[in-house]
Amino acid sequence: MPDPAAARHSMVESQLRARGISDERVLAAMERVPRHEFVPEPYRENAYEDGPLPIGSGQTISQPYVVGLMLELLQIKPTDKVLEIGTGSGYVTALLAELAAQVFSIERHAALAEVAREAIHRLGYKNAQIIIGDGTQGLSESAPFDGILVSAAAARVPSALLAQLHEGGRMIIPVGGLDSQQLDLIRIADGKPVVSVHEGVRFVPLISEA
Ligand code: SAH
Repeated sequence: MPDPAAARHSMVESQLRARGISDERVLAAMERVPRHEFVPEPYRENAYEDGPLPIGSGQTISQPYVVGLMLELLQIKPTDKVLEIGTGSGYVTALLAELAAQVFSIERHAALAEVAREAIHRLGYKNAQIIIGDGTQGLSESAPFDGILVSAAAARVPSALLAQLHEGGRMIIPVGGLDSQQLDLIRIADGKPVVSVHEGVRFVPLISEA
């Protein structure tokens, strides 16, 4: 990797800004967080390319553009407490740690959670915690949350997650079948979920233990 900072700058300009991501806090965070530190060795030099990459256990680190879109839609404030479902590499966990006050992230694969934890600690994030478990149940002991980001595809929105959002809280989640989904942004208004439907995406499935 000749110059990761230059590669990251060009990723932000050509993959994110040029495609309409305009939230400056999101763009700055994606310019700061070293994505290559979350990509396993054989793919490290591809870390700033325009697509997902394998991270082991049959899972992938999401495409930078999709991550930028989800973060922009979620409108995270510096004082927010957020929950992520599907830590995977820990890349989005690091971005959330840049954007929010406190981050909880749940991953069902212990091996991935360990590697992600190591990267998060190495990079010095003190406000992010990675938990091994079934994210479809959320994290009731730390609820309610201002934002929930789900990085795996669900056939329908898990009700336990909706119940753990504050009034005014937001959730971004890919909803649909195995081959394609749409990004749903859900906002709690007057105690009820209000859904808006966004871009088509393709994520690995959200596996429920229940
Ligand atoms: N944002 C991550 C995406 C990883 S892929 C990244 O960019 O690296 C989605 C992750 O969700 C996988 O690691 C998968 O193991 C995890 N996952 C799937 N179902 C889950 C569940 N019920 N609870 C927690 N994690 C889950």
